[in-house]
Amino acid sequence: MTAFIRRAALASGVMVGCCLSIWCKTAWAGADSAGPKPGSGPPGSSLGATSNQVQQGQLQLQGRVVCLAEEMHQRYGTELPTRHQHVWAFKTTNGVCYTLLEGKFSQAIFEDERVRAKELRVKGRLLPNSQALELSYFRSVKNGVLQDLYYYCEVCAISTVSPEPCACCQAPVVLMEKPASDREE
Ligand SMILES: [Zn+2]
Ligand SMILES: [Zn+2]
Repeated sequence: MTAFIRRAALASGVMVGCCLSIWCKTAWAGADSAGPKPGSGPPGSSLGATSNQVQQGQLQLQGRVVCLAEEMHQRYGTELPTRHQHVWAFKTTNGVCYTLLEGKFSQAIFEDERVRAKELRVKGRLLPNSQALELSYFRSVKNGVLQDLYYYCEVCAISTVSPEPCACCQAPVVLMEKPASDREE
C-alpha cells in the first residue's frame, strides 16, 4: 500500500512537471471560448499552434465548480427538486459548463466543499459527443495567483490528490494550498 501511494505521489509529481510546460505554451485567454465542439474535428487544434503536447480532446480551463441542476434552473428554468442530487460541473469564466466525471483527480471536488468553493484551473479530457470532462489535473487560483492544491499526510510526508485518510497510516490528510512554484501568468 505504501509503495502504491508513493508511486501515486511520484506519478502526480511527474504529471505536474509535465503539465507545467503545457500551461506555459498555451494561452489561457480564449482557450475555453474556442473550445472544441463534440464531434467537430480535432479539438486540440484550436488550442494554438505551439500546444502540440496537448492531445486530442484535452482541455485547459479556468473557472468554478457549480451544480449543473441549479445552474440550468437559474438559466433556463428547468425543474429543480428541493432535494436533488447535486450534479457537479465545471463552469468556465466564459460560462461554459462541463459535466465532471468522478475519478481520481475529481474526487476532491466531489468530496470536499472547500475545493468546490475555490477558483480552479483544471486540465482534462472532453469525451466525444458529450460535455463530459475527465479531469487529469487541478490547481487553484487565489487572488489571481496560481496555487498548488493538494492533500498532505504530515506523518508520512506524502502528498496526494485524494481527500481520503492516508492509505499508509490512516491519519486524516490536510488540504494544502501554496503558491505554485512556477510563476505562470
Ligand atoms: Zn444542486
Ligand atoms: Zn500517513
